[in-house]
Amino acid sequence: MTAEPPPRFVDLPNSLVPVTSAVDVLIVGGGSAGFSAAVAAARNGAEVLLLERFSYIGGLATGGLIILLLTMDDGAGRQAVGGLCQEIVGRMERRNAVYYPPREQWNDPDSKLIDHYSQWGLVWGSPAPGGHRVRYSVAFDAHEFIYAADQMLKEAGVRVLYQTWACEPVVDNGSVKAIVIQNKAGRQAIATKVVIDATGDGDIFAGAGESFELERVHPWLWFELANVEAAAVPGRGLFFHTPGGGRVLVPWGGEARVDLQHPVPKPATALPR
Ligand SMILES: Cc1cc2nc3c(=O)[nH]c(=O)nc-3n(C[C@H](O)[C@H](O)[C@H](O)COP(=O)(O)OP(=O)(O)OC[C@H]3O[C@@H](n4cnc5c(N)ncnc54)[C@H](O)[C@@H]3O)c2cc1C
Repeated sequence: MTAEPPPRFVDLPNSLVPVTSAVDVLIVGGGSAGFSAAVAAARNGAEVLLLERFSYIGGLATGGLIILLLTMDDGAGRQAVGGLCQEIVGRMERRNAVYYPPREQWNDPDSKLIDHYSQWGLVWGSPAPGGHRVRYSVAFDAHEFIYAADQMLKEAGVRVLYQTWACEPVVDNGSVKAIVIQNKAGRQAIATKVVIDATGDGDIFAGAGESFELERVHPWLWFELANVEAAAVPGRGLFFHTPGGGRVLVPWGGEARVDLQHPVPKPATALPR
């Protein structure tokens, strides 16, 4: 007796999805981009809802342990990135959760300083003519970023829905009028005047039918090791110091194992293989 082949499709009945909220600005993705957009919109008076599929703010900057804000200066000793980025650095600094070169060292080519900051992961990229210089780059603690971001969202009055997937944009007359979401409470829709796609992957505009490009990237897994004695840190490249007491950052990357057509530029520091 031959078994029935599995069905190739399932037929879902037409369903009415309840609209559970209507907002001015709906932000999809709570990484650094979505978080900043949410705080900025709310501080300017908009009613804002932020959707995040995981249970914390920060995306790659926290869950991905990309805990280095690189080159917030212009390379000539002046600060170039400020705003919300500097604000969250300031908030983390008040809780001793950042490490960065003091302003008087910015643009200094001293090789001892370069070596010191390399051990914190704060020297990357191709050297300027004449060699690397100290830049205004900030190492921070991921948990403290989440704490500071949560405070900023709360103070600004942003409503956040965690553990919620934004699944499907509802497009009407060329614009996104609502987003269908899915979480433990089931399938719902959020109506919105404006939607900001901060998914990092373009889920919303791709789902809405806009054109996009796919790019293959190397797999990376940055991770921390705890209870590492400072004296045991081999230095440049293998482990980076972090402001998170006793933990070092391992910026593991698998580029040597993956054959890609478009290789990414190599950082100045040697990554572990
Ligand atoms: C290996 C690596 C090293 C890097 N090194 C550095 C560095 O040293 N310094 C630096 O400044 N930058 C670095 N970057 C770049 C930096 O990490 C990113 O540019 C930045 O974090 C991107 O932020 P984002 O908010 O756009 O996206 P993400 O951080 O990816 O945030 C997207 C968020 O959207 C959520 N999301 C996605 N889809 C959905 C959905 N459908 N529904 C609900 N939620 C959704 C995700 O869970 C996530 O929280 C590095 C990146 C990588 C990969």
